[in-house]
Parts: sequence; C-alpha cells; structure tokens
Amino acid sequence: MSNTDKGYTIEIKNLNKSFGSLSVLENLNLKIDKGGFVAIVGRSGCGKSTLLRMISGLDKPTSGELLVKGEKIKGVDSNVRFVFQEARLLPWKSALDNVRHGAPNNNKEIALNALEAVGLKDRADCWPLILSGGQTQRVALARAVAGTPKVLLLDEPMGALDALTRIEMQNLVENLWKEQGFTAVLVTHDVSEAVRLADRVVVFDNKGIVMDQQIDLKRPRERDADFAHYEKIILDKVLKIHSSCQDE
Ligand code: ADP
Ligand code: MG
Repeated sequence: MSNTDKGYTIEIKNLNKSFGSLSVLENLNLKIDKGGFVAIVGRSGCGKSTLLRMISGLDKPTSGELLVKGEKIKGVDSNVRFVFQEARLLPWKSALDNVRHGAPNNNKEIALNALEAVGLKDRADCWPLILSGGQTQRVALARAVAGTPKVLLLDEPMGALDALTRIEMQNLVENLWKEQGFTAVLVTHDVSEAVRLADRVVVFDNKGIVMDQQIDLKRPRERDADFAHYEKIILDKVLKIHSSCQDE
C-alpha cells in the first residue's frame, strides 16, 4: 500500500465560521490531498486552531462544507488525532498508560511500539511530572500515532520547545508521517519549520488564505539556497499581514 492510500482527503468549500458577531473564517476554500503535509501559518487570532477543531469534529462550521474522506463530519472520529502545544497528559498515569489511551483497545504492545518510535520506550513507567517538556510532547505524539490515524492535526506542538528539542520533534513527525502515511495539518508560527516539513504552506490572514505555496524540495530537507528562497517569500507574506489579524 502506498502512503497516499492511508490518509484521508480534507475538502473545505465556502466555509464560514463565526462566534456570535465575530467572523473568524470567511468563504474559506481549501483541498488537502490524502497523505499530504500542509502547514498553516498566520498571526494569532486568524482562526487556525478553530479550523483544526472543525476538521477534528470538535466544532462545526457556521456555514459551508467541510468534508473528510469525502464525507460530512459527524462528530469526533478516532482516525483524526490532535497534538496540541501542551501535551495534555493525564498526570496520574504513566507515560505508557497515557499512550495506551490512544491505542486500539488500550493495547499495551501497540502503545510500547509507539513509545519506542518516539525514543521513549525506556521511560514507559515514568509519570508525566518527571519528564522534560520535549519528552511529554513526544508522549503526546506517541499517543496520537498509536492509533495509526488517517489525519494528524498538529496545533503548534513544537511551539514551546527549545531549538534542539524542536528539531528532534520535527524529525520524529516527518518520519512518522512517512511511515504511517496520514494526512498532516500543522499549524506553526515558525516559517522555517513549515518549509522544513510541509509539501505545501498556506498563509492565513484574518479573512482567509493569502498565499498557497507548494514546497518542491527533496527530503530530508537541507537548509540550502532553495530552502532559504521559500522561507523568504513566505516570511515576507507573513510580515505584510502583521497588523491585519483580529487580536494583534
Ligand atoms: P489562532 O489559532 O489562529 O490564533 P483561534 O482559532 O484560536 O486563532 O481564534 C480565532 C478567533 O476566534 C479569536 O479572536 C478567538 O478569540 C476567537 N474564538 C476562538 N474560539 C472561540 C470560542 N469558542 N468562542 C468565542 N470566540 C472564540
Ligand atoms: Mg491557535
């Protein structure tokens, strides 16, 4: 089975989302191919997290269409998994038991394999409290991929990590995506991270998409002149919309 058989497509058509009188997303159109890796970049308050929440079934569009695998979303689907900026682990459960929550039937072997995939098998019995920030994020990632999801939603999961830990986590995400073939949607403030990981970078302002940039670079990506070129054109766009978002 090729990677593209494993992920779900995501189609967003004329989508609007408001909270009371606050219009957050207006007439949004976006199609994400199965098995694709899309990064969403934009200033705070542009509706990025809201969009991920709607894809996961945690929230609903005000109007318009949002199809996952060609179908309207009917609530939360266990094939669609989330990793947030905070690990959100259960503090009274071990790393392994946290990961078991994401595994089919709480399967211990699958959970251990997922912990091994993020390099933390030897920390399986540790409480979240004694793990570092990077380690707890890796446990959260293991919990998300233990269920071999069709869609992985990543809402700034590397945002709070130091530079080296961030690079390790980026490598893990890329390797898991290659192995499992899920469709990945990554929200990040870090343009370099977006270019490092995504096939396509979408830039949002307060009304919707202002840039949709294919990244045609071989993997693993080197920080060469082509990489720098993509970084620059995307960063220029992001800086232009600096003041146009809701809460800036
Ligand atoms: P981003 O992730 O791009 O920073 P969000 O999607 O979190 O932005 O939020 C977009 C806007 O919607 C913000 O102005 C935020 O305050 C508002 N918002 C988000 N969720 C809710 C909610 N449940 N109720 C009311 N307003 C909300
Ligand atoms: Mg957000």
